[in-house]
Amino acid sequence: MKRFIPVAEPALVGNEKTYVLDCLDSTWISSSGEYIQRFESAFADFCGARHAVSCCNGTVALHLALLALGVVPGDEVLIPTLTFVATANAVAYCGARPVLVDSEPETWNMNPQLIRKHITPRTKGIIPVHLYGHPMDMDPVLEIAREHNLFVLEDAAEAHGAEYKGRRAGTLGDAATFSFYGNKIITTGEGGMVVTDDDALAANLRQLKGQGQDPSRRYWFPVLGYNYRMTNVAAAIGLAQTEKIEWHLARRRENAMWYRKHLSGYDQFTLSPEKSWAHNAFWINCVLLDRKSPVDRDTLMARLAEAGIETRPFFYPMHTLPMYRDENRERYFPVADDLAVRGFNLPSSASLTEEDVAYICRMLVELAS
Ligand SMILES: *Cc1c(COP(=O)(O)O)cnc(C)c1O
Repeated sequence: MKRFIPVAEPALVGNEKTYVLDCLDSTWISSSGEYIQRFESAFADFCGARHAVSCCNGTVALHLALLALGVVPGDEVLIPTLTFVATANAVAYCGARPVLVDSEPETWNMNPQLIRKHITPRTKGIIPVHLYGHPMDMDPVLEIAREHNLFVLEDAAEAHGAEYKGRRAGTLGDAATFSFYGNKIITTGEGGMVVTDDDALAANLRQLKGQGQDPSRRYWFPVLGYNYRMTNVAAAIGLAQTEKIEWHLARRRENAMWYRKHLSGYDQFTLSPEKSWAHNAFWINCVLLDRKSPVDRDTLMARLAEAGIETRPFFYPMHTLPMYRDENRERYFPVADDLAVRGFNLPSSASLTEEDVAYICRMLVELAS
């Protein structure tokens, strides 16, 4: 049988089935039920935050957070150009403009040195994205935000459990959003969460995700709201995943260490970084192919696919996508452009064995020469 190693697959190794069956047996399958509160409070504890507000996916989590932080049409919000499209789209949903910032070469995150020159009187906030699990260098972001009275919303969709100078991703700014899509560090199938220490912001998020209903007056809708709720069934999976999150994180770290071990000495491959001040969540293991490599990235990915190894290219930077291209035509993002053509993602599931990783590394070395 031909071997196939996917980039990501969920690991449902805890109480997922028990809890989901409990939802079915009890008929609590919609968006009320005990698993919602239990998942929210377990996830808030994990992050070390006061509030966790569940919603139906990570994109919606960003939209809700931006609305609750007061983003309105005409505002500008700074984001890295190298991110998943949802970061930019959530800003656009608010009628605001995502202002794109180039990456830094070492962490691949938004370059904090470039933030200041993008601030205008319309700037409302900054969304640092902890790309592929590596936290952004947050101190400069927080300092600039304080100086200019901007909000800081972490997009931690890829960074559950990442740490910046000993502090968990999700507690570093005014609020943070997480995704529980099937390929993320933990999953609910589709799902999202907004995490914050701010009581008023949390209350606002809850109102917005529940059609804007007044919490003390049924069917009274004083503001424009949304139906962005998570189901009890998804929350049941999320609770089971959160109970085992330390295991999930340990498996991801072990994968990263295996890649380091089996590719050590092969300098044509630069693996996912981990700065001295950072604890990378290693959501997905990445490789940057050396500029002098005899094969290009796409050829190598095609060859790996033949060998049964699934890979993914880095995200296309936002300034190259049709929605955001025109207004950025005159601007240059040399670092993001370079990363985007040389980078790709390797299989990173919790279920990988060292033998799988050794095989992937052997094939990488062989097929890249
Ligand atoms: C996955 C992801 C999202 C969106 O999450 P969904 O749950 O898929 O909507 C947002 N931002 C980043 C950086 C992501 O990787």
